[in-house]
Amino acid sequence: MIFKVIYKDKKPIMRQSQLFTRTKKEAPSDEVAKNAKLLIRAGFVDKLQAGVYTYLPLGLRVLKKIENIIREEMNTVGGQEILMPSLQPKENWQTTGRWDTMDDLYKITDTSGRENALGPTHEEIVVPLAKQFISSYRDLPFSTYQFQNKFRMELRAKSGILRGREFIMKDMYSFHRDEADMVAFYEKMKAVYTRVFERVGIGATTFLTYASGGSFSKYSHEFQTITSAGEDFIYICDKCHLAVNKEIIEDQGNACPQCQSKDLRTETSVEVGNIFELKTKYSAPFNLSYKDEEGKDQTVVMGCYGIGLGRVLGTVVEVYGDDNGLVWPAEIAPFSVHLVELGNKDDKTVREEAQKLYDELTRDGVEVLWDDRELRPGEKFAESDLIGIPLRVVVSAKTLAAGTFEIKNRATGEVFMVERAVLLEQCNQCKVK
Ligand SMILES: [Zn+2]
Repeated sequence: MIFKVIYKDKKPIMRQSQLFTRTKKEAPSDEVAKNAKLLIRAGFVDKLQAGVYTYLPLGLRVLKKIENIIREEMNTVGGQEILMPSLQPKENWQTTGRWDTMDDLYKITDTSGRENALGPTHEEIVVPLAKQFISSYRDLPFSTYQFQNKFRMELRAKSGILRGREFIMKDMYSFHRDEADMVAFYEKMKAVYTRVFERVGIGATTFLTYASGGSFSKYSHEFQTITSAGEDFIYICDKCHLAVNKEIIEDQGNACPQCQSKDLRTETSVEVGNIFELKTKYSAPFNLSYKDEEGKDQTVVMGCYGIGLGRVLGTVVEVYGDDNGLVWPAEIAPFSVHLVELGNKDDKTVREEAQKLYDELTRDGVEVLWDDRELRPGEKFAESDLIGIPLRVVVSAKTLAAGTFEIKNRATGEVFMVERAVLLEQCNQCKVK
């Protein structure tokens, strides 16, 4: 059956000659952000319009790895994954009052005159959803999360994928019987978030940051990553490895909220995540309540926890990208090894050796992008640097004659000639666990 033949190979294509996307010499002239310039040139994303991007095969692999890390960490606290709609009825937004007060809410009217919001967040959906399942104190606590496209009406979208009009977020919501239970969970989430940012490779430059809590609590917390591309300004206490957002530093007496030190350094930064004690801000308008042990009605207490996936990806590019292109931390790299074959049509030995190495590495579970195209070496090397896979391995007539392989560490730029056993060991070390 032809059907079977076509679908025999279930693995995604990892030969560069088969990739339908290409790298580009130039980024679009209207693109000013480093992250978008590099990602577009390297063929990771495509710009549809300001603040709206397509993830291409290489970019989507990175995004999915970030998603999986976040998913694993949300699951450690018992988070249950769901998927809520983007198209949200006006009535829900009127219930919380945000239909009229949220300036950057996308509002759409269809031809029947029906009005909807394109969700920038999902309290208006998750609270009435939870209401169907909460009646007693025995139904609490729980938390639920999703990965979903969000929409925000940005007047000027010029930070590349750091600040989009459409973007993907992980948003989690937790439901509790009282504030003490919510606060205990909230504290746990601080540690979970710290682990997420460590695993995606920006732990050292990301700080738990005290920010204004609005009308409901003294603080909310942001996770801010230092980068010159940042639009935020933070005051860092290196002793406590935490920071304070510029907007509340005066309320803090210009001191660290933990050790009271005034010896703080300032940096520009990007907010990669945030956590809020919502308390009863959204449960009250929807009358989300439960019966306690005495049968008395009590309002459910909530927290919410967000991470922008594209923003994390863009921040990694801002932090690590150099003059030659992207540089990916091992855990979120689109591939672990870039196998660059420098052969020619007349000599089959290089192709055979590359195939052998590709088969062996993929069998070991190492993700390999194989550049099997007939191009000049200089062109292939420049493109390999631009794509930024952690380890580049060269197979050529020269390396074959020497009985070795050439490997390059993209982050440090170091090049080594190694024997096969050492090569396999190095590639396996790069492998995502
Ligand atoms: Zn301190």
